[in-house]
Amino acid sequence: MPGGVKTDADIKQNIRFTTLKVRLYPSPEQAELFEKTFGCCRYVWNQMLADQERFYIETGAFFIPTPAKYKTGAPFLKEVDNQALIQEHNKLTQAFRVFFKDPEHFGHPRFKRKKDDRDSFTACNHVFASGDTIYATKDGVRMTKAGIVRAKFSRRPQAWWKLKRITVEKTRTGKYFCSILYEYTEKERIPVIPSEKTTVGLKYSMRHFYVDSSGSMADPPRWLRQSQEKLAGLQQRLVRMQPGSRNYQETVQKYRLLHEHIANQRRDYIHKESSRIANDWDAVCVRADDLNELNRLTDKGNVFDSGFGMFRECLRYKLARQGKRLLAIERGFPSTRTCSHCGAVMPEEIPLKRLTWTCLHCNTVLEREVNAAVNIKAEGLSEYFKSQRGTV
Ligand SMILES: [Zn+2]
Repeated sequence: MPGGVKTDADIKQNIRFTTLKVRLYPSPEQAELFEKTFGCCRYVWNQMLADQERFYIETGAFFIPTPAKYKTGAPFLKEVDNQALIQEHNKLTQAFRVFFKDPEHFGHPRFKRKKDDRDSFTACNHVFASGDTIYATKDGVRMTKAGIVRAKFSRRPQAWWKLKRITVEKTRTGKYFCSILYEYTEKERIPVIPSEKTTVGLKYSMRHFYVDSSGSMADPPRWLRQSQEKLAGLQQRLVRMQPGSRNYQETVQKYRLLHEHIANQRRDYIHKESSRIANDWDAVCVRADDLNELNRLTDKGNVFDSGFGMFRECLRYKLARQGKRLLAIERGFPSTRTCSHCGAVMPEEIPLKRLTWTCLHCNTVLEREVNAAVNIKAEGLSEYFKSQRGTV
């Protein structure tokens, strides 16, 4: 594709996947069954891995036995959903597949231990004449052995989505969540043609989260910053405490809860903000490398240190759903040191501390971040129109 502009509307593939994450409220019996299932999944994984290693040493052949092999020796495996055990087999096979393909990037599959590995299991939905084995109800998720587990949905699945599989997990703070994977066929979208008026450029900003090409800033809410400060306070207290003491354990738990709370606040904020932008504009221009650059510059950890990537992904799919585009301009484009007034490119980078600077060519005084956002928008649109000419 010319110009390096990536657009979602170009993707012809019609099958799409989406995940809903819901909080689960299992009854004590269901929670006990979950615990058993987590344990059985770890057990089966470790057994299969050990046998695979043994077979390999003895015969030189690669082979992973199926979970059924272990049921006679370990009858407790029969108490949990067999689908979850089969998924462990699939996961282990997949872990070996990627390991063989790229051993440097993906390590050799390792044994799982309760204290290091997250409690989770996965199960696939099977559609029988009598109905699905796994499905969402109004306020719950129906699972094979557990029955209907009470759940809280923040978003409802659409009627035409097909439930493919679920992953149940327990966080370190003791909460249960279920990620539900759905498959659906994307309806044909009529691509929206962006114009100068209906396009916005966004420059990521450490102080404001982002600044847009019209000069507006998205100031992250004050409560988010306050929570962040509280978290830093707890961290300081932990450093001074005796590890292992009761006080220490309690503070660790407080820390985890607050950390989780901040992550939720941040996610809510990012979803709202990206929805607003995706609804208001026909195209959004961003710089492809802003994320990395900012992560490198943020040494102390910003309120949004892990939020930029998520924000961009949210924008991408929320725009695509409406046939709109996220225009990511190439890395290395000098968005900051180009004068948006006359187009002159300054010979040197503008130091980070300088909030405003003066163009050496036309003497215009420029606001650092707004100027960059204007340039990002102009570059994104120009690349877009160039690529459209190339395809006609
Ligand atoms: Zn200038």
